[in-house]
Amino acid sequence: MITILIADDDAASLELLKDALAAPGYRIIESSDGSDALLKVQSETPDIVLLDIQMPGLDGFEVLRAIRGLDPPVPCPVLAVTAFVMDGDRERMLASGFDGYIAKPVSISHVREQVRRILNSSSKVGHEI
Ligand SMILES: [Mg+2]
Repeated sequence: MITILIADDDAASLELLKDALAAPGYRIIESSDGSDALLKVQSETPDIVLLDIQMPGLDGFEVLRAIRGLDPPVPCPVLAVTAFVMDGDRERMLASGFDGYIAKPVSISHVREQVRRILNSSSKVGHEI
């Protein structure tokens, strides 16, 4: 079973991401704010995290920083999901330590592709999604 945590404060966006990744063998955990996402990273130790950048409270950058600072460490890959799609934004996300970048509006095939790529590179058995 592969556990995926999806954090997004926009309900429609969260639903779309959930639908994109709904498949046998995947357990989806959801969160609608950064602080809660951080707690769930610790309690659920997900295999992959999809993190919206613009969230109230802790934003995506702050959550990522907090995840990377956890002790004991939780070494999960984290994908940024964001409407920041200006020139240089992708580079900025990756330079911040995100393992990938999904632009909003979200394309279902792109989400699946990114998740498959992450799972393959972490040697998890990725079911077909
Ligand atoms: Mg948001």
